[in-house]
Amino acid sequence: MSIFSPLCNDIVDFGSHNSNARKNSTYNPSGKVVKITPHHMGMVCDAKRCAQAHMNGNANSANYYIGNDGRICGGVSEDRRPWTSGSRENDFLAITIEVSNSAKGDPWPVSDAAFSALVRLCVDICKRNGITALNYTGNANGNLTRHNMFQKTACPGPYLQGKFPELQKLVNAQLSPQPASDERKIWDYLLARIGNEYGVAGLMGNLRGESRLQPNNLQDSFEPRLGMNDEQYTAAVDSGAYTYDQFIHDGAGYGLAQWTFWSRKSNLYNRRNGKSIADLDMQLDFLWWELSTGYTTTLQALRTATSVYNASTAVLTQYEKPANQSEAVRLKRAEYGEEYFRKYAQGTEVYPLCPYVARITATELNVRSGPGPNYPIVRTVVQREAFTIVDRVGDWGKLKSGVGYINLQYTEPV
Ligand SMILES: [Zn+2]
Repeated sequence: MSIFSPLCNDIVDFGSHNSNARKNSTYNPSGKVVKITPHHMGMVCDAKRCAQAHMNGNANSANYYIGNDGRICGGVSEDRRPWTSGSRENDFLAITIEVSNSAKGDPWPVSDAAFSALVRLCVDICKRNGITALNYTGNANGNLTRHNMFQKTACPGPYLQGKFPELQKLVNAQLSPQPASDERKIWDYLLARIGNEYGVAGLMGNLRGESRLQPNNLQDSFEPRLGMNDEQYTAAVDSGAYTYDQFIHDGAGYGLAQWTFWSRKSNLYNRRNGKSIADLDMQLDFLWWELSTGYTTTLQALRTATSVYNASTAVLTQYEKPANQSEAVRLKRAEYGEEYFRKYAQGTEVYPLCPYVARITATELNVRSGPGPNYPIVRTVVQREAFTIVDRVGDWGKLKSGVGYINLQYTEPV
């Protein structure tokens, strides 16, 4: 049975035509795929048509074809050696990919759609064949190789060849995603300084809402506008190709807290000290510096919070201040925060995490305008009525309607 990537839009299965069994006692005794060799077609073509042209001839083949529109077509099964690079030594070990050009002639450009399909396909090939990373050495010893390493040819053309380092980087970034331990690291860092698990969970829920907890996160809406993804933007800032002035004045949110305003981005930039702008430790130190110097009211709210919701809302309205601060956004961020609370908090809980539904157990219970017995009574509720509690101060729970607070000792969670 032939083996193809699930990313294929079409398949023109070559069978045994223009190919050999990959397992070969001289060139590949294990039969494993260990290299990838991207080629250019030397013309503008769609994937399936190029595959069919090779299938109809008796000289060429490749494992995959990528069209100018980014569609992918399977050709020679992965467990077979294609005839692509003019090198037995290479092609018995390699998956080969023919990529359409977007125009004929030097520098043989390739469309963004085709290049991003190439990145996705390489990631998939690596994952399924146990290749842990691409290593582009610029010679045949690496596992990302070029046709012109083996034959006198223009292939893969100056444009695509120039993008091999970027291809390596983008593929490897997807093969080794952010370590999960970052979440724990952020929790521990903040808990050591804030000292209140509700506060830490509320802050982390907001950071997740802002950046998915990724320190290299560029505000999503700016990616198409700037023509860069998270990795490309970060690399450009780190190398200086994207200047300090561009970085602070582009209006794009960046980093753990999606810092946007020019003076905050400027302060972040000036803290790098030789590190990447996406360095997690550096960003945590910066976050802490901001909270402990410029946002002391927010910090106090985090230190004294008695629920995740109340901590989370303080961060949302005083520190992050996104355009949308609706109740829906508040509840979503508190919900993220509660996930972290459940995962990492050690403190035992008398009441469920807010928001939750409480049912009245007393025959009659007063609703007061504030969280304590001295606040005026605004109405009374009766046994078996149920209310969503969105915040808690000690034993007092705030009703979602905003009418007031009830004493939770006379309720039970539903
Ligand atoms: Zn080639």
